[in-house]
Amino acid sequence: MADQQNQPVGQGTQSTVNPATPAAVPNVTPVVVVAPEVKAGAPANTDNTIATVSPTINNSPSQPVDIHPTSVVQNPEPKQNVNSGQVEAEKPATEAAKPSDTDKALTGINRDLEEKITMEKAQEIAMPYINVGVFPVNPDILHLVSPEDAKRAMAMLFYKVGKKVRLAVADPNSPETQALVKDLEGKGYGVQMNLASRASVTEAFKFYTSDQYKLKTEIKNTVSEEEIHYEKELENLAALKDKIAALPSEEALNTLNVSAIKAGASDIHYQPEETLCTVRFRIDGVLHTVFDIPKETYTNLANQLKYKAKMKLNITNVPQDGRFRFIVNERKIDVRVSALPTEYGESFVCRILDSGKHFANFEELGFSKKSLEVLRRATELSQGMVLVTGPTGSGKTTTLYVLLNKINTQDTKIITLEDPIEYHLTGITQSQVNEKRGYTFADGLRSILRQDPDVVMIGEIRDLETAEVCAQASLTGHVLLSTLHTNSAVGTIPRLINIGLPAFMVAPALSVIVAQRLVRRLCTCSEEVEIKPEEKIYLETTLAKIKEVDPAFEAAMPAKIKKVKGCEACNFTGFRGQITISEVLDCNDEIKNAVLKNASSSDLLLIARKNGMLTMEEDGILKVIEGSTTIDEVHRVTNT
Ligand SMILES: [Zn+2]
Repeated sequence: MADQQNQPVGQGTQSTVNPATPAAVPNVTPVVVVAPEVKAGAPANTDNTIATVSPTINNSPSQPVDIHPTSVVQNPEPKQNVNSGQVEAEKPATEAAKPSDTDKALTGINRDLEEKITMEKAQEIAMPYINVGVFPVNPDILHLVSPEDAKRAMAMLFYKVGKKVRLAVADPNSPETQALVKDLEGKGYGVQMNLASRASVTEAFKFYTSDQYKLKTEIKNTVSEEEIHYEKELENLAALKDKIAALPSEEALNTLNVSAIKAGASDIHYQPEETLCTVRFRIDGVLHTVFDIPKETYTNLANQLKYKAKMKLNITNVPQDGRFRFIVNERKIDVRVSALPTEYGESFVCRILDSGKHFANFEELGFSKKSLEVLRRATELSQGMVLVTGPTGSGKTTTLYVLLNKINTQDTKIITLEDPIEYHLTGITQSQVNEKRGYTFADGLRSILRQDPDVVMIGEIRDLETAEVCAQASLTGHVLLSTLHTNSAVGTIPRLINIGLPAFMVAPALSVIVAQRLVRRLCTCSEEVEIKPEEKIYLETTLAKIKEVDPAFEAAMPAKIKKVKGCEACNFTGFRGQITISEVLDCNDEIKNAVLKNASSSDLLLIARKNGMLTMEEDGILKVIEGSTTIDEVHRVTNT
């Protein structure tokens, strides 16, 4: 678990990682490739293994940037050692001549000797030894100790698992080393000291000057909420702006991401303008401007974002897609990033996919009692098609996932084909289409059917080919779930026929059609107000229609309705969360017969109404009357 948390996204936490991607990052030296092996190479954890590193490797690492190997050997340190006689004797030779092969050989010998002395000293004081100069230190862990502190203490952090770290130290008893250990312990780390030669510690400092360190320190993919302190400092989104401006880009991006999650945002938008960049959160389906950031801050954030999402940093003139994962309080958050070139720079949209998201049940989503009965039958089908329709952002996928979770039992085989996979569901085989590589919904569906599933979910029916395979599947003993972009439940039927699916296939295949939208749910800060005369007429008319469809319906005209107010908890929007409004069409024999007779949409609607189906608007108005949302919200989403 701890390993996974430490593992950066770019190093294989996701199945979608393209092995070729690191090449996209400029100036990546082979050390990046080595780094993951520090963790994978668990044996390095045992001190014996570390001690057996062959001395011939000593000269192999790339030349340290600012430290000369010979000066390291001339360090007065060996004088302090009892066995330093040989080193002293060889020194004049090293100093007299210009660098030559002999010098290099002598340097090698001196270094070997220094390591040998250190190893013996380590044994004496019963401390594990390490030649940290040849140890592949993972750049990810370097941010725990600043280069200044490391140099001051002559110490190098070289290994970390969870909250345990190992520190290579040249002088365990120096006050600087002791201070560093204390500091790390203060941050909650268990510190184990390993004795290392001054030369090898100095050699290891090279990691601090590497490009990947500079990049890696900005990629702390495990973010803990305590580090961000946003409970105190980010009580509302307005406070976020000052915070972001003051932070280095790594933390700024983390803070933005965590704040977006905290605010319940589904997307973060970065929209560059001529002199600044507007940051917006989509919360409950509606975009809110959070603040503007200076162009410079935006540029840093944009580079961070592209690096994290494994996009090509040097390419800014074509759209790119990427993805990264980070962990907050042990919740894995996937972020899907899309970059689009615009007049003033790249515009980014980050979709936040929270794997820890709790999928509500149908009642919590807001489905009415009548709709629930139909949906319950949908979960008990042995074959047939269940379609959820609506525009993008109408909650179709969530409804399908809730349905899948209900169907998901030990004895049911469920396979999905999605574009992309938004949430990972336990016990369900999920696959992703790849249109670019010719793996389309239709092709994928054919392959899936050979896997003998009971239930198949297809992300979307877009064309005749997919529609045909879907209909075939649902007529041959499979339950098929999918989505379609249509405005109403009955409108789905003529849509399928327009795509080219014959009525004789549509009629027997269809079981249930759900058309839906999401309206924002009023926050508890909302106030009750008198109903305006024109609102009164509208509500009364709608209630009358509902009673016509369902004579047993009991809902009286309320005296007052709720109005938007706004408080800190809802970021002064007046709304918190969303609720589904829907129309659920049970495709019974009467509907099927009408489809076979090529009935028009209006005829189909009459039959549906006779069978008790309320429209989305009516369902929404009932939610206004019960105080969950507003008339404006219902109209906002149903008039599209
Ligand atoms: Zn509120």
